Amino acid sequence: MSPKPTKVYYGSVIPGNRGQWSAFAAKVDEVIKKLDFSTITKKDKVAIKMHLGNKEGYQTIPVFFVRRIVKAVKDVGGYPFITDTPTAVYNAAERGYTQETCGCPLIPTAGIKDTYTYTFNVDFHSIETLEMGGVLHDADVLIDLAHVKGHNTCGFGGAIKNIALGGYHGPSRWGKIHRIEQALPYWDADKCTPEHAKELEESCPDGCIKYNKKIHQLTVQFGFCNQCLDCLDADKEVGCLQIKQENFSLFQELLALNASEVLKQYDNDKVFFLNFAINIMPLCDCWGFGFPNVLNDIGILGSREIVAAETATLDLIGKQKIIESMMPPFVRLNKKKNLHPFQRMHGPMKNPYIALEYAEKLGMGSKNYELVEVLAVETTKNKKGPSKVSEPAPSFY
Ligand code: SF4
Repeated sequence: MSPKPTKVYYGSVIPGNRGQWSAFAAKVDEVIKKLDFSTITKKDKVAIKMHLGNKEGYQTIPVFFVRRIVKAVKDVGGYPFITDTPTAVYNAAERGYTQETCGCPLIPTAGIKDTYTYTFNVDFHSIETLEMGGVLHDADVLIDLAHVKGHNTCGFGGAIKNIALGGYHGPSRWGKIHRIEQALPYWDADKCTPEHAKELEESCPDGCIKYNKKIHQLTVQFGFCNQCLDCLDADKEVGCLQIKQENFSLFQELLALNASEVLKQYDNDKVFFLNFAINIMPLCDCWGFGFPNVLNDIGILGSREIVAAETATLDLIGKQKIIESMMPPFVRLNKKKNLHPFQRMHGPMKNPYIALEYAEKLGMGSKNYELVEVLAVETTKNKKGPSKVSEPAPSFY
């Protein structure tokens, strides 16, 4: 007998009628209710890990929803705090997140100098250790509150990426995790002349190939590569370059490992996953500037299991058509329309489900889920909305 599917609660952004009670905010409240915060014990320190954005990026989860989640934690007696990387916390007020607006403190994941960490012996290819944020490690409860968007290195940013990158200190994130794609060889220096290396550099329309003549070294920046394979055309007479799935998969495998290590710090009934699939941009919030939304808003998804939450999110996105007119010119869409939207944006080898395969193998949950829609349009559309919505007099509350 196959195990029972994991419930993923879903609220669509589309209201069924004219009543506020059928609209998105009510659905967010309903998803939180279904998730059931009653396993949070009084005075538990509750880390709400979110991406607070960067510089002029304003499309992170609206503070309007963050306060509702904070309130729900307080209602069961927990002590919530919001956590993210130090810089994101220090300038969060620029994007509207303060203790006053959110309703709880904002604390950097790895302390004020990004040095309060716990060592994780990851032993993965070229990486021996990573430093997990000590604040995240010390909390009693984790609410992984993720803004869903595309990601140029792995195709997709959601709950796994939120803790697998954002849960570790800066040097781990940038100096180790983001460099893992270089761990497997892909270029044969002996077969390649400097002249040919220059040709390869020039063959890439996105400038992903860099050649250092002084040390005769060619590097592919896989994070920006959309696997158009133009470089392999230029290399067909020589055959010194490979664009392989393995180099792309490494990053996703490492994300799964990192997320798994974060989740091990918590009891199973103390973790909650909320994915906000709204304002879906092609690239991550950390780019620090605004993008057009390139997919329709979908809604909120909540689960007690990370793999189920992520799978349901990707499946719903997979049913969407990309709003091609909104795509910035530096994201070259793959022509194959049957690919997942994030693969069309970032290339077929950046299949966003890869991390989930690894996560499932690591025992982080199952891709077998049951989508439970709350306040669905079908059930609310025939109910009566309010007859009067005008404001008869100013109200302070
Ligand atoms: S496959 Fe990647 S590295 Fe090669 S040309 Fe295309 S974008 Fe550039």
